[in-house]
Amino acid sequence: MDTISDKSIQEAGHELSKHLWDIALKPWDSTILPSVEQLSRARESLVSSLPEAGLGFDKTRNHLIDDIVPGLNASSISPNYYGFVTGGVTPAALLADNIVSAYDQNVQVHLPDHSVATDVEFYALGLLLDLFNLDRKVWVHATTTTGATASNILGLACGREYVLRNAVQRKGGELRSAGEHGVIEVMHAAGLKGLQVLSTLPHSSLGKAAGILGIGRANVKSIPAQGHPLIFDLQRLEEELARPDVASIVAMSYGEVNTGWFVTQGIEEAREIRRLCDMYGAWLHVDGAFGIFGRVLKDSPEFERIKKGCEGIELADSITGDAHKLLNVPYDCGFFFSRHANLAEDVFRNPNAAYLSGGSTTGVIPSPLNIGIENSRRFRELPVYASLVAYGRDGYRDMVERQTRLSRSIAGWVFDHPAYETLPSGQSRDELLENTFVIVLLRAKDEALNAELGKRINATEKVFVSGTSWEGQPACRIAISNWRVNEKQDFAIVKEVLEEVAK
Ligand SMILES: *Cc1c(COP(=O)(O)O)cnc(C)c1O
Repeated sequence: MDTISDKSIQEAGHELSKHLWDIALKPWDSTILPSVEQLSRARESLVSSLPEAGLGFDKTRNHLIDDIVPGLNASSISPNYYGFVTGGVTPAALLADNIVSAYDQNVQVHLPDHSVATDVEFYALGLLLDLFNLDRKVWVHATTTTGATASNILGLACGREYVLRNAVQRKGGELRSAGEHGVIEVMHAAGLKGLQVLSTLPHSSLGKAAGILGIGRANVKSIPAQGHPLIFDLQRLEEELARPDVASIVAMSYGEVNTGWFVTQGIEEAREIRRLCDMYGAWLHVDGAFGIFGRVLKDSPEFERIKKGCEGIELADSITGDAHKLLNVPYDCGFFFSRHANLAEDVFRNPNAAYLSGGSTTGVIPSPLNIGIENSRRFRELPVYASLVAYGRDGYRDMVERQTRLSRSIAGWVFDHPAYETLPSGQSRDELLENTFVIVLLRAKDEALNAELGKRINATEKVFVSGTSWEGQPACRIAISNWRVNEKQDFAIVKEVLEEVAK
């Protein structure tokens, strides 16, 4: 029998430092994913029922390292893992994330006499705002989440609270808070029949958020302008906002997941949408999971289109962002910003818990439990803090630039290649390059090849892509999101793979 002792903790520490850096930071070789054989061996090795006597530390270590993460392949280390928008892990974030596990701090209540964790998180979120050139004084409700999906839930939850409050106020009713009294009672008091989310090509997680929050997945509506799937049809937007018996949240995609495109092409369009929202008491939410990182790019003609594309983000009421994507911290980590501090407590207050009320009620640092989903949770922002402090604005700018340039090199090459085409179609080569921000959407012209393009690319084991569909047809998506990207080297690998597959 193996019991837990100080010695076994020490051993765990030694094992950690010995293996961790091997796993996550070993020099990049060409294997991206474990083989099918490795996976089936791993599956067969899994312990399927609780052992009476534990395996002990040594056997468990071997089981984890040799069976479950066979070959130590990790998507986080491979710059050529282009599936989804996976993100890598910077060395500083990796270090911090493991400190978080060892420290095992519960970040729930701001206890300035006992812990500095809430201070660190407060500053980490401030540093993020700095990175995106967002004013700390404006984005007063800032919190960490498990990812963009959770941030979208927060955005729609705050939006729901806000639009219902506006609607009751207009009616002169008494009930003010859906968080306090429930959605149904407040809707009734406001004389509303429904809630809706108006968007263009919303990420699937917005539907999920609407489902969770009682808005309904069916009430997430795309209202695109003719000929452009991402730009709002402003006339229809206004018609929907003007409906007297329905309250609306407007959700804008900054960095649409298939194309990387932005919902607006400049601040003027965003201002118009903001004006309509203000006129009708609607909430404006931005899903900028990865697109918000466009704001990190430098002001130069090279990135003008992208910079202009994400200019409108600061006009929103709430903003979703992912840290486990382009910030390159480990899963699971996202962030949420809103300009309405008072609303946060109405939505997320953890009521009547005397044993949690020891937190400071003065000062600027809020107790996290009253402004987000979780009560107990890990010290999630330490990796964010570490990575931002370690690399700074210049470091992140360099990472995002390298990734953008690689995506553009690939896009241009695919555009010129006789066997492939880039999507959405109808762009000139110059427009394509200007619009491309870390994602390349492509298809093979030959139907048969296109049907299994992703499979064929991934079978080379040099590059991994994920499939999607565009206008009803299968398509492949190359999503670049790793700090290790080397423009020249990785472009050469992608060319070689696509050339080989097209033969
Ligand atoms: C990835 C993504 C999400 C969902 O993020 P998770 O990290 O999976 O929760 C939401 N919106 C957009 C635009 C995304 O790219």
